Amino acid sequence: MIVVVNNNAAKEQFENLVNWIEGQNVRVHISTGEFQTVLGLIGDTSRIDTELLEGLDIVSQVTRVTEPFKNANRKFHPENSYVEAGGVKLGDGHFGIIAGPCSIESEEQIIEVAKAVKAAGADFLRGGAFKPRTSPYDFQGLRADGLKLLLEAKKETGLPIVTEIMSAEHLPLFEDVDIIQVGARNMQNFEMLKELGKTKKPILIKRGLANTLKELLMSAEYIMSEGNENIILCERGIRTYETATRNTLDISAVPALHELSHLPVIVDPSHACGISRLVKPLALSAAAAGADGLMIEVHNNPQRALCDGAQSLTPEQFADTAKAVKRVIEAIKE
Ligand code: PEP
Ligand code: MN
Repeated sequence: MIVVVNNNAAKEQFENLVNWIEGQNVRVHISTGEFQTVLGLIGDTSRIDTELLEGLDIVSQVTRVTEPFKNANRKFHPENSYVEAGGVKLGDGHFGIIAGPCSIESEEQIIEVAKAVKAAGADFLRGGAFKPRTSPYDFQGLRADGLKLLLEAKKETGLPIVTEIMSAEHLPLFEDVDIIQVGARNMQNFEMLKELGKTKKPILIKRGLANTLKELLMSAEYIMSEGNENIILCERGIRTYETATRNTLDISAVPALHELSHLPVIVDPSHACGISRLVKPLALSAAAAGADGLMIEVHNNPQRALCDGAQSLTPEQFADTAKAVKRVIEAIKE
């Protein structure tokens, strides 16, 4: 349920209202906007007398929210939210490009790619240390040693870093990571989501291979219900019957998620298509559809990459893509 309160309500009246609602065993999420304040009620609201609330002169509207996601719901927080990580904002008009290799392979590789993507206009550096591979015989990432190299690249370039977590047990290793990524395969690892919710770390959560947008929002809700509201949603392609591309980019996820939720939405065109020459057109279409950012895989020598070389851009291709994306962003500004 949401209760919209006029901003001219006296402080005491407002506090009395919040106390009265909380007294009915319901949690209140307060979102203050320019003209009105939205109270989002979470819990069993069935016994709350909506007519009584509607009758109060400081209340302008009472609506029951039927969707199971509450904190992530735009009705609870009508304005766009943004995430701030390592001093850089993403969302609500701040377009952010995350770029870097699929996996961290060596000091030389990650530093070289970090410098190149920074020079080409990336806002964040990505690199996988713990890799979720389909086969246990494939390269599993450099794990803790990889994280150390990523931190070195952060020191060298000043770029905030994004890397994937695969188990809550590894959280102590992620202390200096700016954005923790939950990969598609772990989108519904609910125990891990709850642990991430107890931290204040920005979390980038990718849509599962065969998950609906509602399921993605319920996963965000798991994190938010524990008190962490710093979430970025990521569309990375879904499984369909099409085999020409690795996955199928669901571009409609961008405007649809923006309608349903206030959270920033980014697109990963690399995993969506799996083919480097398709990355640029998909990145441009994501920007045109209103995405708040992109995640793009870049490697200094894609042919030699230990993981996802076929979809990785060279630094030059990335620079060209980033430049074109920025032109699209300018073109769609109102
Ligand atoms: C990744 O970003 O490296 C990755 C494994 O992506 P996804 O979880 O979307 O497959
Ligand atoms: Mn990858």
